[in-house]
Amino acid sequence: MIQFQDVSLVYPNGTQGLKNVNLKIEEGEFIVVVGLSGAGKSTLIRSINRLVTPTDGQLLVDGENIIPFKGKQLRQLRTKVGIIFQNYNLVKRSTVMKNVISGRLGHTGTLRSVFHLYSKEDVTLAYESLKRVNIEEKVYQRADQLSGGQQQRVSIARVLTQQPSIILADEPVASLDPPTSHQVMSYLKKINREDKITTLVNLHYIDMAMEYADRIIGMRAGEVVYDGPASQVTEKT
Ligand code: ADP
Ligand code: ADP
Repeated sequence: MIQFQDVSLVYPNGTQGLKNVNLKIEEGEFIVVVGLSGAGKSTLIRSINRLVTPTDGQLLVDGENIIPFKGKQLRQLRTKVGIIFQNYNLVKRSTVMKNVISGRLGHTGTLRSVFHLYSKEDVTLAYESLKRVNIEEKVYQRADQLSGGQQQRVSIARVLTQQPSIILADEPVASLDPPTSHQVMSYLKKINREDKITTLVNLHYIDMAMEYADRIIGMRAGEVVYDGPASQVTEKT
């Protein structure tokens, strides 16, 4: 479970990224966060794996306040909480397999990961993950030879090999055309259903949010201004 208790975040320059956010997110939920550019969607999502650090309140992940986490605790949190980004963040000149298997880094010992030594199980898991997003035929292709949609599927496979219990997706379809966006959203939803991985997705488009979300969180100026089922969004906003 993820719980925001009066969480605020003020950036060093004084910008308020989050303001008194209170939320309770249960295991296995599929949540879409919507709001205009600058509303705080990215700040909200990135707090959960501590890419950004709230300046006030408590943020509980599986019962532990993660705000003070450092070092080993932070690495463990980031293994448990996977993230995908708008621009895929793949190592462009590496193969799809190398990119996907790097999702195992948090699981291997430091020395093993330095030398990129992976077990046979890691390779199998990477291949299985690629199959789940139907991109296994590209396994030895270079990442930068793939289309945007294919690269995003590879980044989903990478996060799957990490075996997280939470997946964050920060504007995962913002660089993709509508049909490809739907394809990526469908894979995220399918994985959420099959593996019961709690999923939070930031989206610009309310139509797409309503199509995929079980629950929508609407943000404005760092505050949560809507929180409820997708079916009721139009009545209240
Ligand atoms: P969204 O994802 O909804 O576009 P963000 O969470 O990226 O919104 O940003 C929320 C607010 O915080 C915006 O005003 C943005 O300019 C500001 N912001 C984001 N990152 C930083 C940062 N590193 N330093 C200062 N302000 C930031
Ligand atoms: P994204 O769309 O991925 O959130 P942005 O273009 O909003 O990316 O921001 C890119 C980077 O700049 C991020 O690291 C973000 O935290 C930072 N940033 C965003 N807004 C501001 C701001 N007003 N001042 C300083 N840094 C910012």
